[in-house]
Amino acid sequence: MDTVSFIHGKAYLIKGQFADLGFFLKKVSNYIKESRIEKSNILYTVQSTIEYLKNKSGPVTQESALKRLIADDLKKIVNMENSEKVIDTQEMLAAQYEDYKDILAKFGFNIKYPKIYFVDNFPKPYHTMQWSACSPDKEDEIKYGIKPGFYFRKDKLVPFKSSFILAHEIIHAIIAASDPFFIGRGLEDGICDLVGSVLLGGRVIGFDICKNYLTYEYLSYHNNQFSEIYLDYFRLATSLYLQFGFDGIFYLIKRGRQAIKKVESSCLSGTFNEINLPMGQWDLNVNRLVNFITLMYPRNMVVSPLAKFIAGFLKKGDSVRKIIAINNIDASQGEEAIRELQERVYLVLINGDVIDYSEIEYLETNNFLRYELI
Ligand SMILES: [Zn+2]
Repeated sequence: MDTVSFIHGKAYLIKGQFADLGFFLKKVSNYIKESRIEKSNILYTVQSTIEYLKNKSGPVTQESALKRLIADDLKKIVNMENSEKVIDTQEMLAAQYEDYKDILAKFGFNIKYPKIYFVDNFPKPYHTMQWSACSPDKEDEIKYGIKPGFYFRKDKLVPFKSSFILAHEIIHAIIAASDPFFIGRGLEDGICDLVGSVLLGGRVIGFDICKNYLTYEYLSYHNNQFSEIYLDYFRLATSLYLQFGFDGIFYLIKRGRQAIKKVESSCLSGTFNEINLPMGQWDLNVNRLVNFITLMYPRNMVVSPLAKFIAGFLKKGDSVRKIIAINNIDASQGEEAIRELQERVYLVLINGDVIDYSEIEYLETNNFLRYELI
């Protein structure tokens, strides 16, 4: 495992302040190259990168604020208990697969579960796809002679992330057991996230880790369209779950793809009041998590690195010029960043040189405010 993959996996254990995990990892990778400190000892490399990023000289600018914020996020990873432990993702997946199956059996799902394969390349004709996992089914077996199963590209395994993907794929496999010749997307993907990633993943891996995973996966600032589509369907599945509980969702899984498509059509045409499903069985941890991800998270609270840096210590009544001088911040970039806190996200009100109001200090944490990777 290389240093960036190591950081990627551990990132699911912390509440990162970055607005986009992918960009964060790209930046970290560039800094490691730039500082020429990559060594065989991963933890030593991460620690040296933090030192390199924290190296202060001259006034704080957007660029150096970004380095400090990235160093803070890396520090959280290093300061974690057992932070030095490199996770064997293959071993982790195999063990979690058994736990997932046990939980599913308790909910009355019993199918002939497919095998997990760890491969260098996916079987043809999927060998050129850039996915991290692929789950050929019965139809692929008939058409292309591929053994049905969960195929994971070895070079794309990431601790935790791969586990949530596996949980998602298992639900597809259960649904496909009744309708293998019909591709399931849309609401089915939302259900796979809800029952797989959230219910199974939450119970086996942990709801906090699941919360971080979904935040990074679906609530990035400037999310790509592909992730947005998954989020849309996750919201749709969540809405059905909050209304009908797992009794309704499990009923749909057991009835298969045609039934799911029918309900999806009713939702999309606005006639969801006509949907009739069994009702009952909510899980409090799931409720908390899905509400947080789909309804509560202020995903647009994102500012530039210097604005995020300054937000950490800015108080009502402060003088803008004083803040800049005391904290050795570049004057023009600093003033602009404070203005940004007002004009872009309206967290402060500036009157002349004085901060007349600051929303940030009324909230227990400024964790909700994330920094953009510029
Ligand atoms: Zn899917």
